[in-house]
Amino acid sequence: MDGISSLTAPPGIDADGLSGCHGGRETLIEAASRAGKTEAMAALMRDYPRGPHEQPQSMCPAFGSLRVGLRMRRVATVLSGSACCVYGLTFTSRFYGARRSVGYVPFNSETLVRGQLFEDIRAAVIELARPAEYDAVVVINLCVPTASGVPLDLLPRSHDGVRIIGIDVPGFGVPTHAEAKDVLAAAMLRTARSEAEAGPVARPRGAVDGARTVALIGEMFPVDPATIGAMLEPMGLSVAPPTPAREWRDLYGALDCTVAAAVHPFYVASVREFAAAGRPVVGSGPVGLDGTAGWLEAVGDAAGVPGVAIDAARHRALPPLRAALERCRLDARITLSGYEGSELLVARLLIEAGATIPYVGTACPRTPWSDQDREWLEARGVHVQFRAALEQDLAAMREVRPDLAIGTTPVVQKAKELGIPAVYFTNMVSARPLFGPAGIGALTAIVRAQTRGRERFGRMVSFFDTTADRAAPVAAE
Ligand code: SF4
Repeated sequence: MDGISSLTAPPGIDADGLSGCHGGRETLIEAASRAGKTEAMAALMRDYPRGPHEQPQSMCPAFGSLRVGLRMRRVATVLSGSACCVYGLTFTSRFYGARRSVGYVPFNSETLVRGQLFEDIRAAVIELARPAEYDAVVVINLCVPTASGVPLDLLPRSHDGVRIIGIDVPGFGVPTHAEAKDVLAAAMLRTARSEAEAGPVARPRGAVDGARTVALIGEMFPVDPATIGAMLEPMGLSVAPPTPAREWRDLYGALDCTVAAAVHPFYVASVREFAAAGRPVVGSGPVGLDGTAGWLEAVGDAAGVPGVAIDAARHRALPPLRAALERCRLDARITLSGYEGSELLVARLLIEAGATIPYVGTACPRTPWSDQDREWLEARGVHVQFRAALEQDLAAMREVRPDLAIGTTPVVQKAKELGIPAVYFTNMVSARPLFGPAGIGALTAIVRAQTRGRERFGRMVSFFDTTADRAAPVAAE
C-alpha cells in the first residue's frame, strides 16, 4: 500500500522512544514531513502555533486526547507509540480516575520500518470494532509513529458500523494537553457533522423538540453547565450536550445548537466544525459580574433573542453575583499560571473579588475567543502571557513576591522553596465550580485558606535556612 513501504525510522528517535521527547522538535517535524505527514503537520502548526519553548513543559500532550476518548461511553481508545510513552499515559489516566482499558499496539524497529505496525493497528481496530460494545474506536499516533509516517488516515472509516477515528497527536506538533483535547473533539465533530449532513442520525438522550440551545465548549466542573443553564433560561435557551462529548449521539445534539460558546478558548478546530455547521460562536464565559453581563448579552444577540429577554436574564443572574462578591472580598496579591485554558476567566473572577493580579500566564495560545478576557485584564494592568514558558511564570513570581502563587507543579515547588504559599491550578482550581455565586464562593475560599499560612511559610523557610547554615560546617568536617 502507498505510504507504507516508504516508512523510515527517523533520525533522533528509536522504537523505544528513548529520545522521543528530547529528539529535537525540528528533527522530528522534518522526519514526519519526509515520511508523508507534511499536510498533517501543517494543519497542527496552523491550529496550535508553537510557543517560546521547543517542547511541551507539562505532561505528555497526548493525554488530552486520551482523556477525551476515555471519558466517552461506548468508545474504545488505542495508543500507537513507544512503550514508555504508553506506560506514562496509562499511568496518568489511572491517576485521574479512568476505569477503562487503553488499547496498545506494540512495535519494534523492524515492524515500524517495514510497515507491519500499520497492519497490526488495522487488525487491532477491526477486531475491536464490535457494534454491540462500541460506537467508535479511536487510535492515537504518538511521537514515534507520527514522525515515522504511520498513515492512520488510511484506516477504514468504519467497520460493522463502528467509526474508526485515527489522529496524530505528537508532542512536537501539539504543544499542550489542552489542545490535544481539541484534536480528538474536532475529529469526532467532523465525522458526526458529515453523518448528520448525509441523513437521519440518532437522537441525543434527553433532547427536546424545538429547544434552542447553547453548546458549551470546554471541560467544566459538573455543576457549571447547570448553573449556566439557569442563567440562560429567561432567554428561552438551554444548554446543549457538551464538547468534548460524553457519548457519540451527543455530538449531533451539540452541532444542532443555536449558538456555540467557546468558554475554553483553545478549541480552535472544534470551533471550526461549529462554524461549518452554520452556528455562530461567542467567546469568553459567564464569569463574575462583568463577564456574566457581557456573555449573556453576546449569547442573546447571537441567538437573536429580544433585548427585553436579555435584560431579564441579566436581572436574574447579576444580583446574586453582586451579593456573593461583597460577601467574599479578598485582599491578596496573586500570580496565576496554568495550562488548562481557563486561567484568564479565573483571574477575572478573583480580581472582581478584590485580588491584585499583576501576572497571568497560560500555556495555551491567544485566540479570538479569549480576546474579551485579555482586554478586560489588560485594562486593569494585568500582564497576560500566552504560551507562557515556565521560566516566564517563575520570573513573574520572583518579581511580584505574591501572597499566593496559583500555578503548575514546578511553579508551586519553586514557590514553596521561596516561602510563598502556593496552590496547584489543575488539582485545586479546575476541580471547583467557576460560574455563578458558587464559583465566587469556591475560588475565593481557596485563596483565603491558602494565604492564611503566609507567616507559617516564612517561618519554615527561615528555620530550614538556619538549620542548613548550622549543619554546613558539620557536614564539611
Ligand atoms: S508521546 Fe508524549 S511522552 Fe512520548 S515522546 Fe511524545 S511527547 Fe514525549
